[in-house]
Amino acid sequence: MTPTAPTVAADSRAASRPSAGNARFLVWNDRGAQGRRYGFIDARGILRIPCELADAYEFQSGVARVRDHGRWKFINEQGTVVCELSPGVPFCGDFSEGMAFANLGGRFNVDTVVGGKWGFINIRGKFIAPPRFAGYDFPVRSFREGLAAVKIDGKWGFVDQHSQAVIPARYDDVAGFSDNRAAVRLGKWGFISSGGEMVVPAKYDDVQSFSAGFAAVRSGDHAAFIDKSGAERFSVADWDDWSQFSEGLAAVRLAAAGPVPPDARCDECSGLIGGFLYGDACPHCGKRITGTRACYIDEAGKPQIETPFAELRPFADGLAAVKTAGPSARWGFIDRKGKLVIAPKFHDVRGGFRDGLCQVSMKKDQEEQYDTYIDRSGRIVWQAPAN
Ligand SMILES: [Zn+2]
Repeated sequence: MTPTAPTVAADSRAASRPSAGNARFLVWNDRGAQGRRYGFIDARGILRIPCELADAYEFQSGVARVRDHGRWKFINEQGTVVCELSPGVPFCGDFSEGMAFANLGGRFNVDTVVGGKWGFINIRGKFIAPPRFAGYDFPVRSFREGLAAVKIDGKWGFVDQHSQAVIPARYDDVAGFSDNRAAVRLGKWGFISSGGEMVVPAKYDDVQSFSAGFAAVRSGDHAAFIDKSGAERFSVADWDDWSQFSEGLAAVRLAAAGPVPPDARCDECSGLIGGFLYGDACPHCGKRITGTRACYIDEAGKPQIETPFAELRPFADGLAAVKTAGPSARWGFIDRKGKLVIAPKFHDVRGGFRDGLCQVSMKKDQEEQYDTYIDRSGRIVWQAPAN
């Protein structure tokens, strides 16, 4: 079957083709001097919106932000333009909770916007209040749980959906709300509630946002998950390699236990330590032998899936990307039982499965080239054409 893909211009015909799969996944085509052009495929890998757009982003809340002939537009999954912004808007964000941040009167320059004022538009493309926030590097962010972060005179606070200040701008930095908590930095990081109350004191060097009632935090070498009251629930061995809770599990590194692999060497003196146990003293230098292992823990902090893999990603749609160890390491996927269901053959994986497909990179040393989509059986359903 070779369906005729609807174009952005031919939107009315697209809407009347009920058998056509919805456009869902961003793809592109490199056209040499013409540069990259973007389009969208459906969940079967069939091109639904041809690669003709100068700029396009993933679907969020059922619409995708695209730029065509210098104008920003939002299209739905049939390719119909649902909102077209005025030429006075050089840039806008994705819709979240019915709003998108946008600049009015500025000028797009490489990867930022110079001048103009920032505010929020609704799905009809109208500013909900006169844009009034100014500054470089995007002084406004997307709505999360009814509040959006804005920067005023160098400090961050939050406004509501009428663009009215709700939490005064007094923080060095902030992250968006999740689980009724937002990470805020006052020298160090803590968390506020949506009422603006400091519920977790600003005492951490690093934090991540709450998910499923937990947030990962770090003070010096100590990394742990805290609950919404700020109480530490369980610690992890390595801050650099962990994920938020997703589908009831978080990928973390815990202290290794049991026998050391046969060919292992001491971190301190490089002497062979194979056959000894983690926790033993090195027979050569006396340093305690330590290591970490990658596993998934449940919301009680208990290991649920032990794995032999070097890196783990969060579960999405019941599958999680995992990376093998060693010089020819590749990414594959495991199921909730820890069983390898898609063999490790990908150089990198972007995010996880969403609506049945996952974006992967087949090429070495081109981590940014996630130009391939696979389905849940690992079959390639789309690959960007070679230029
Ligand atoms: Zn040693």
